[in-house]
Amino acid sequence: MSIWSDMPMGPPDPILGLTDAFNKDKDPKKVSLGVGAYRGDDGKPFVLNTVRKAEKIVLEKALNHEYAGIAGVPEFTKLSLSFAYGKDSPALKENRVAGVQTLSGTGACRVAGDLFARFRGAGSAIYLPNPTWGNHIPIFKNAGLDVRKYRYYDPKTVGLDFEGLMADVRAADDESIFLLHACAHNPTGVDPTQEQWAELSKLMRPKKQTPFFDCAYQGFASGDAEKDAWAIRRFVDDGHCVVLAQSFAKNFGLYGERIGALSVVCSDADEAARVASQLKLVIRPMYSNPPVYGARLVAEILSDEALSVEWTAECKAMADRIMAMRSSLRSHLEGLKSSRSWEHITEQIGMFCYTGLTQEEVLKIRADSHIYFTNDGRISMAGITSSNVEYVAQSIYAITG
Ligand code: PMP
Repeated sequence: MSIWSDMPMGPPDPILGLTDAFNKDKDPKKVSLGVGAYRGDDGKPFVLNTVRKAEKIVLEKALNHEYAGIAGVPEFTKLSLSFAYGKDSPALKENRVAGVQTLSGTGACRVAGDLFARFRGAGSAIYLPNPTWGNHIPIFKNAGLDVRKYRYYDPKTVGLDFEGLMADVRAADDESIFLLHACAHNPTGVDPTQEQWAELSKLMRPKKQTPFFDCAYQGFASGDAEKDAWAIRRFVDDGHCVVLAQSFAKNFGLYGERIGALSVVCSDADEAARVASQLKLVIRPMYSNPPVYGARLVAEILSDEALSVEWTAECKAMADRIMAMRSSLRSHLEGLKSSRSWEHITEQIGMFCYTGLTQEEVLKIRADSHIYFTNDGRISMAGITSSNVEYVAQSIYAITG
């Protein structure tokens, strides 16, 4: 008998649990389309050349391993903010953005959640798109917020329910917090157009609602990091006090290094200094300070003109490979004379494709063809390669006809 004797077994994580099931599967044809991590066309994990170069530079500098400050490596945070808000951002020039390094995008969301709970009040409402990245819900619940949903995806059109989204924003209280995926919405791959973003910004501004952008795929969506930051920059230009979570997991391929940032756009430099001080008070008892390695790598790349140019090309190559796989999957399905429309595969953007397959179909494809993806029908396009795309299409066709 121990104090843990009565502890129940927790359920496996819906996404990471899928990887365990995949690893146990002995079938040679098995395909993993669950976790959102980029793979090369050989299906193997991918390390960017610019990251390899930055690793060498960092090694040669023979830096020490002292703690970073509570807010992380200052050079990294500065570069990270100008990466998102733009090099010429007036908000940055006016010193009115409070920013800290975080434990990747997840950590940024959690720190933001705690800041909201502390200063907007425990139990404040946070509106998340329906659906959203599964981890958002427990992150903000655990931070003590009241998690609500706003309409986002329309299964009938396999696209954006813009009318529903606008109606829910209109109906929400003034000063509510809205989490928005900056680009490459996970899991649907459906983003608002620039015109729709502008309309949303216009609706939220007089209501003093807080746009909280989660930006986990900057550069990865369109292949152009500037374009992918369009919505964030537009909201800042429109005068919003944007809150922004950034992740460098996907665009720099630094998943396990846990490198990200959280920033808050304020009305002036004095307010930004106060917000920064409170962010540190949230972080200090949570994990004291973040790891330095990933921050050093990103900082080397973003501070060097030649490396930045090379990174841009590498990031575009990743995005292009994903887009090529989208076209290939769609044309294979169409070539099989599928009875369904698969146009949405190429309309959607980013790492994921929301196939529209039902849970029953997903489970059948898993059982029959050993292809693993989440029960909501989301497939990670990054796991599709020129060698398995035909097999994936045939397996989907075998179930859907
Ligand atoms: N937000 C969204 C929308 C995501 O898709 C992800 C990655 N799956 C994250 C945040 C955070 O990932 P990480 O903590 O690895 O940066």
